[in-house]
Amino acid sequence: MENNKEVRLRFAPSPTGFLHIGNLRTALFGYLIAKSKGGKFILRLEDTDQKREVEGALKSLINIFNWIGLEFDEGPHKKGDYGPYIQTERLDIYNEYINKLLEEGKAYRCFCSAERLEEMREKQTELKQAPRYDRTCRNLSKEESNKKAEAGEKFVIRQKMPLEGEVVVFDEIRGEIKFKASDLDDQVLIKSNGIPTYQFANVIDDHLMKISHVTRGDEWLTSFPKNILLYQAFNWETPKFIHLPLLLNKGGGKLSKRQGDVYVEDYIAKGYLPEAIINFCALLGWHPKGDKEIFSLEELEKDFIINGLGSSPAIFDLEKLDYYNSYYIKHKTDSELYELSKKFLEEESLNIENREQVEKFIHLGKERLKKLSDLPETISFLFHLPDYEKELLKWKKITLEESIENLKKLKEVIESIEDDKFKEVSNLEEIIFSYIKENGEGKNGDYLWPLRVSLSGKKNSPSPFEIMWALGKDESLKRINKTFLK
Ligand code: GLU
Repeated sequence: MENNKEVRLRFAPSPTGFLHIGNLRTALFGYLIAKSKGGKFILRLEDTDQKREVEGALKSLINIFNWIGLEFDEGPHKKGDYGPYIQTERLDIYNEYINKLLEEGKAYRCFCSAERLEEMREKQTELKQAPRYDRTCRNLSKEESNKKAEAGEKFVIRQKMPLEGEVVVFDEIRGEIKFKASDLDDQVLIKSNGIPTYQFANVIDDHLMKISHVTRGDEWLTSFPKNILLYQAFNWETPKFIHLPLLLNKGGGKLSKRQGDVYVEDYIAKGYLPEAIINFCALLGWHPKGDKEIFSLEELEKDFIINGLGSSPAIFDLEKLDYYNSYYIKHKTDSELYELSKKFLEEESLNIENREQVEKFIHLGKERLKKLSDLPETISFLFHLPDYEKELLKWKKITLEESIENLKKLKEVIESIEDDKFKEVSNLEEIIFSYIKENGEGKNGDYLWPLRVSLSGKKNSPSPFEIMWALGKDESLKRINKTFLK
């Protein structure tokens, strides 16, 4: 452990109702740093921006984290020594600390009206200046300020930024970064309704909750000097800051809803597995040594190191996510996949009662899946023989009549195979190949094409032997017989 201090990381989302995949990555990196150092992972709900609050958001957030397998050690739903873990339940705490800053002259009340601020901003924009507060109220004396407040005038509380010099901050990925103090706005710490801003509550909480490392998106880099100045104003030790690289879509733009799914909920609904999402997110900005790219959560908990984090933007490549998902789907047992995908099959009104058989269908389909929601379409031909054109039975090297003739011969062979032999694909292969070798000059396509089409009704499908294994003897013969009625 570093400096003998407990390693504590937090995930601090606003309760918007949905979990952005980028936020999940932030959470994952925080979790992995904590776990790889034997530390704690904490959930804190940052709900001070009440407009955005969504009922049930906390519950659904916790459900997603349970589903994905990241467990919090402390949070609103757990016991912990540093609660409450919901910011709107901590208002007294923020009050106490803002009063300290006011008393020490490190923050000030600003009574400027919204109209005045708006006018100022418009002027600044016209003059192509960065919009920022002109610090009028910074010069009010303590007495004036108290008097106005007592008279009931509305105010916000602003942080007093240094007027000159540099603010030097340190990010674990980027190293030292310098900001000109004169570029910093006297930001609002407490809004006119008495509720703190993110910038204030976040620092107070990180300190009081003994957070050792802050992982957050690099969109917060511009706030970084202001945060550090707050720590300094209180004379507090700063946690280590790790600003994670931006997530971009493949075209190089910001990841947004317009280009595709951005919420973890969307990916769950489409049948992405938690293992795939974790593996994919872990490699969005983290570069492990060597070329290993398959990582389980347990491995990540051991292997993850801050040194492997880069500052260049990470590209969100859906094909890569599909690659991981196919990988993890293939590595599930048929029985596990039955449980995971029954909802998708039922949604398409496929009858899943005969579990043994459905697992066989899944076995045939799982090699081809990118996501579980593709399963019904991939294997529905096994549930019901689709309608197909008689012409499809024709193998390219012979006539339709010859193709059907060959199928008739195979039908007799299949009728003579004992039921028991249908338990192994290899038995069926052996019997049918040896028949073709002896009676059909070894021209496999002349026989196997019409057989496969009669069983699947499709141009592309698994081999006829696999299909017969999955369907069983009766259903296989039923399908073959239908061909002759066409
Ligand atoms: N509430 C902030 C957000 O949702 C948290 C940022 C941070 O981790 O400091 O983006």
